[in-house]
Amino acid sequence: MAQSIGFIGLGIMGQPMALNLVKAGYKVTAFNRTRGKAEAIEKAGAAVVASPAEAARHADVVYIIVSDTAAVEEVVTGKGGILETLRSGAIVIDSSTISPGVSRKLACMSAGKGASWLDAPVTGSKHGAEKGELTFMIGGDRDVLDRAMPVLQALGKKHIYCGAHGSGLSAKLAQNVIQSTMVEIFCEGLVLATKAGVRPETMMEIIQGSMARATLTDFKAPFIFRGDFTPYFPLKLMHKDLELAMEAAYAQNVPMPTAAAVKEVYGTAKAQGKGDLDYAAVVTFLEETAGVKVRTS
Ligand code: NAP
Repeated sequence: MAQSIGFIGLGIMGQPMALNLVKAGYKVTAFNRTRGKAEAIEKAGAAVVASPAEAARHADVVYIIVSDTAAVEEVVTGKGGILETLRSGAIVIDSSTISPGVSRKLACMSAGKGASWLDAPVTGSKHGAEKGELTFMIGGDRDVLDRAMPVLQALGKKHIYCGAHGSGLSAKLAQNVIQSTMVEIFCEGLVLATKAGVRPETMMEIIQGSMARATLTDFKAPFIFRGDFTPYFPLKLMHKDLELAMEAAYAQNVPMPTAAAVKEVYGTAKAQGKGDLDYAAVVTFLEETAGVKVRTS
């Protein structure tokens, strides 16, 4: 079993995940670009270092969860990146949602150092990360996944092997196309009903008594109804995932007309300065356009 974990990225997801690894008994050496965010993990017993390379130097497993493709490339191949120190035999687990093609390239570069790579994007958001109940979608070699499984089990309850390098990410992009569209269309329906004079609570009762009921919208509704857009999953990152999905759709000649439209709605909300709010804040763009607010108080 891997004992020593280099952990890179202490954002909304990374912070609770790293804490769970410390709680599970791993020796965690953490790096975050903004040093201040590393205080909690340091108090919990992790070592905090000044570069990804330092985090990887003695690690059996290097865990990455940062914003986007450029950020992963920087922490892997940039100055002070993990490729400077990555040990032969180490496993890199990347849970960031990024381009599957770039992920495959980074897997090859790690192999050049004698290390293995898994793309292991997640779903379950901040609360799933805190409870250690994430669902993983995993691409890479099956035997590497078997070796990495104890680490992943400390972070999640479901681990779904998707196939070769990049296929965990392909699955994740498809999942976020569905999730982003569900929230956006839920908000469109709520705005339409509210403008017509149907109260949001009444509309919710109807949805929950119908086939349109979904765990996702049950979870998001109370936040929308009280106008609380504290980010669980920042809107700008959902927009990033829709961009990545459209790139994948183009490369594979898959038409995605609805996803293309939904991407532009999130893109407009981001351009309005809502990118750091939760992606449910997409409702505020629709509200402002329709001149009505979906609030219960
Ligand atoms: P976040 O709170 O915005 O955190 C992003 C992290 O990436 C921070 O630690 C940030 O460092 C780091 N970072 C960004 N650019 C960097 C760079 N150039 N070099 C080094 N570090 C960099 O995002 P998050 O919600 O934790 O999401 C992280 C990843 O998980 C994303 O790929 C996202 O799509 C995916 N994801 C998120 C959720 C969710 O519900 N939140 C669910 C599933 C998947 P600083 O602190 O210095 O900014």
